[in-house]
Amino acid sequence: MSTPAKGYAAHSAETPLAPWSFERRTPRPDDVSIEIMYCGVCHSDLHFARDDWGMAAYPVVPGHEIVGRVTAVGDDVTKYKAGDIVGVGCMVDSCRQCNSCSSGLEQYCAEGFTMTYGSPDRHDNTLTQGGYSDSVVVSERFVVRMPEGIDLKSAAPLLCAGITTYSPLKHYGVKPGDKVGVIGMGGLGHMGVKLASALGAEVTLFTRSESKVAEAKEQGADHVVISTDDEQMAAITETFDFMLDTVPVQHDINPYLNALKPDGTHILVGLLEPIDPAVSGANLVFRRRVLAGSLIGGMPETQEVLEFCAEHGITCDVEMINIDQINEAWDRMQKGDVRYRFVIDMASIKEENAA
Ligand SMILES: [Zn+2]
Ligand SMILES: [Zn+2]
Repeated sequence: MSTPAKGYAAHSAETPLAPWSFERRTPRPDDVSIEIMYCGVCHSDLHFARDDWGMAAYPVVPGHEIVGRVTAVGDDVTKYKAGDIVGVGCMVDSCRQCNSCSSGLEQYCAEGFTMTYGSPDRHDNTLTQGGYSDSVVVSERFVVRMPEGIDLKSAAPLLCAGITTYSPLKHYGVKPGDKVGVIGMGGLGHMGVKLASALGAEVTLFTRSESKVAEAKEQGADHVVISTDDEQMAAITETFDFMLDTVPVQHDINPYLNALKPDGTHILVGLLEPIDPAVSGANLVFRRRVLAGSLIGGMPETQEVLEFCAEHGITCDVEMINIDQINEAWDRMQKGDVRYRFVIDMASIKEENAA
């Protein structure tokens, strides 16, 4: 039997999020039913709902940084039981058979993964709906376990912002002593600083704003470079092993390529648009530099980043909100007015229903 759910949905690109009642699917044998406790607020939620990427489907309940409590499991579920505290990130299904899926890299599924919201379900073609809601039903393969003792509120954003920055640092082999630059100091950037630092790297934060120097150092950056200061940029030529570029809008990456040593790697995790200004081939060719990209992380690695953060005491800096503050939070997020992630306390949706 499908179960009634309450969420906040966008019904068009122009309308604010508003309360919406819908149905969660009848659980399948491999499904985990989850009562949502917290949901992080990611920039992608806003981009998707406002159709900035031309891929929106309505109505849409956004949210893909979900932490909750298991309420029931299907007969085939082996990893979870009622009462477990679990997480759901950006994916809820994939083909499960291609090379990527077989390697635990479901984010690169040859058929495209099923997004937590706004994707047609692979079995019944209904639209998936995300975590700005009181419950969710997800196949156990796409559920992760929250480690014992981790702070659940501030762990929610690890399911997107955390894994997005952790996966490339691991894949490209960042190790103690490496010099890592992190470009941008938003939700992704501040996690990149913390994670690179925990991996033993010497971390430099690149920001355009003088006002972020002190807070970047508080987050664990060893150095801060003001990227608009030509003198500071010239002083770091050929000194970095890696650049983790979290900037989601077009920007000139040539100065950052020149800050890499020979064989250095520049990793894009935020930019989906064409690179503009263009990259000079010479900036790659003359020093055998690598320009790379990376998307979230697979399910095994999503579990791994949670364990890593629990072990190293790493959490996301969050500002808690109630569900009825979500539109205001989106406005503030768009202005960059958040340190560094909003997280919705989903108990507030029950209180709202009771009222
Ligand atoms: Zn996200
Ligand atoms: Zn696949």
